[in-house]
Amino acid sequence: MLLKLILIGAVLYGLYRLTGGRLLPEGGFKRAGKNGKKSEAESDDDTLVECEKCSTYVVKKEAIFYKGKYYCSRECLPK
Ligand SMILES: [Zn+2]
Repeated sequence: MLLKLILIGAVLYGLYRLTGGRLLPEGGFKRAGKNGKKSEAESDDDTLVECEKCSTYVVKKEAIFYKGKYYCSRECLPK
């Protein structure tokens, strides 16, 4: 009897971990995180910009903004 209860408990716990335990918090987190990040990205840093010279895409915050255009590195800056 006791063993059966433990087994059922273990199965339920396993199912909980496999489905609800995993999916619910993660899904909720992802939605909240995505929305939060999206507004941040739209405003600034995570946007990709194309290097004016070599056409490499770089994250905006790492790109070099020079005379109205973006460059991936100093080597691509016009001299
Ligand atoms: Zn470049």
